[in-house]
Amino acid sequence: MNSFDIFNLSKPLQNAIVDLGFEKPTPIQAETFSVILSGKDVVGIAQTGTGKTFAYMLPTLQGLKFSEQITPRVLVLVPTRELVIQMVEMIESFAKYVNVRVLGVYGGVNITPQKDAVALGSDVLVATPGPLFDLAVSQVLKLRDVNKLVIDEVDVMLDLGFIYQLTSIFNMLKPRRQNIMFS
Ligand code: AMP
Repeated sequence: MNSFDIFNLSKPLQNAIVDLGFEKPTPIQAETFSVILSGKDVVGIAQTGTGKTFAYMLPTLQGLKFSEQITPRVLVLVPTRELVIQMVEMIESFAKYVNVRVLGVYGGVNITPQKDAVALGSDVLVATPGPLFDLAVSQVLKLRDVNKLVIDEVDVMLDLGFIYQLTSIFNMLKPRRQNIMFS
């Protein structure tokens, strides 16, 4: 018996948790799981290292049905390229037994491979606002099917002056979606 049992997780997610060696949910995971799963908007305040990535990814992956569609259904915005890389790795470690396509979009590198990957399709897209905005404006990436938007480190994002890119991205998303913000 593992205290993640209260979440009633799918077998693939349970197996990933066993592989990761997690014994029990962190407080932020325990507090936000059911409300995120229910589809309500959530604002969470949690330090890095408290398990906030899994706090939003656990219920997100639990609720994500298999699909072959090209356009992403979950968009995670983070302020830096390092965080994109770290998040993609974390999500993949968690989703290793789930048939889900996780993709990172960030700047400072040749954008062509990322464009090609976007064209092949993704379920969960993790991105910094600038490069994501550029891909969306150039129609390479269509954001119309995003039904869950996560903004991680939203305070840092605003400090870095991403407000224009963020509001422009919001305007490209459908209004009926779940918004999850962590700071
Ligand atoms: P964060 O940056 O807040 O997402 O924290 C991430 C770190 O916490 C990662 O190293 C995870 O592997 C670890 N972590 C997340 N959830 C748990 C948990 N329930 N038990 C132990 N470690 C965890």
